[in-house]
Amino acid sequence: MVSCPVCQQKLKLSFLMLPGALVVCPKCGTDLRVVSRDPDRVEAVPLEETLNANAKPESYA
Ligand SMILES: [Zn+2]
Repeated sequence: MVSCPVCQQKLKLSFLMLPGALVVCPKCGTDLRVVSRDPDRVEAVPLEETLNANAKPESYA
């Protein structure tokens, strides 16, 4: 069990979520990355990183 670093919502990570996996907080919608398992730790993904991953207008030209 981990807490969202933004809103403190308790999150239960699936055993399938390995370090590096991305999860979206169901409460505040922040993109979180699994940093480690046992103990479970997550960190908020920097906004610019999510923009780079999702918004590539040149790909659709
Ligand atoms: Zn949250």
